[in-house]
Amino acid sequence: MDHTKINLLVKLQHLDNQIESIVSLQKGLPEEINALDEDLAFTNRQIESRKKIADDHLKLRLRLQETITECKNKIKSFKEKQTLARNNKEYDALSKQIEYEEKEIAQAEIQLQDIAQSEQRAQEIQQKGRQLIAENRYDEISEEMMPDDVLIQQLEDLKKQVEQKKEELNSIVIETAEDVNSLEKKVLAQRNLIETEAKRLLDKYDHLRSGTLQNAVVRLNRNACSGCNTRVPTNRHTMIVQGGFYLCESCGRIVVHERLFEEAEN
Ligand SMILES: [Zn+2]
Repeated sequence: MDHTKINLLVKLQHLDNQIESIVSLQKGLPEEINALDEDLAFTNRQIESRKKIADDHLKLRLRLQETITECKNKIKSFKEKQTLARNNKEYDALSKQIEYEEKEIAQAEIQLQDIAQSEQRAQEIQQKGRQLIAENRYDEISEEMMPDDVLIQQLEDLKKQVEQKKEELNSIVIETAEDVNSLEKKVLAQRNLIETEAKRLLDKYDHLRSGTLQNAVVRLNRNACSGCNTRVPTNRHTMIVQGGFYLCESCGRIVVHERLFEEAEN
C-alpha cells in the first residue's frame, strides 16, 4: 500500500481541524445573533400593529368628529330656514332633515364611544400585564398584555444586544481573518495535490464531511476508532501501525495511527 497518499490526506484533515478550531472561537455567536434578530422582528411587528390600530382609530375619530360638525351646521341652517318657512309642509320637510342629521350625529357618537371603549379595554389589559410583570409572572403574560412602554424598551434592549453581539463577532472575524485566510490557501493547495495523487481518498474524505461531521480522518485510540469508539479488529492494527489506514466499519471514518497526525503538524 502507498502510505504517502494517506499522509497527504491526514495533512488536509490537520489543516481543516485548525480552521475548525478558529471558527469555534465564534462561540455560537452567529446563531445567537439570528435568534436575537428573530425576537427583534417579532417585537417590531407587535409595535407596528399597535401603531396601525392607533392610527386607524385617530383617522376614524377625526372623520366622525368632522361628520358631527357638518351635521350640526346643517341642523343650524335647517332651523334658520324653519323660521322662514312659508307653510307647514315646508316646515315639516325641514324637521325631517333635522331628524336625519340628528340620527347621523347619534350614530357617529356611538362609533366614537366604541373606539374609546376598545382603547380603554386595551389599557386595562396592559394594566393587568404590568401587574403580572411586577409579580414576576412572565409566563402568564400574553402578547396584548405587554404594556406599550415595556414593549418599546424591549425593542431598544434587543437592538443593543444584537449590536453588541455583532461587534463581538466582527472583531473575532477580523482578528482571525489572516490565519483563516492563510489556512484556506494551504487547504486548497493540499486538495489540489491530493486531487492528482489520490482522488479516490479525497472523494471519500469529502463524502464523509458532506454532512455535519468534521473529522473524517481520526486517530486510532486504545485500539478503537476515536470518531465513534468502535474497536478496530486486531488483524488491522499492524497495518495501521505501519502507516496505513482502516475504514471504520461502524462510522466509515478513516482511522490512522496518531503518529501520522504528529507528522502532519511538522
Ligand atoms: Zn468509527
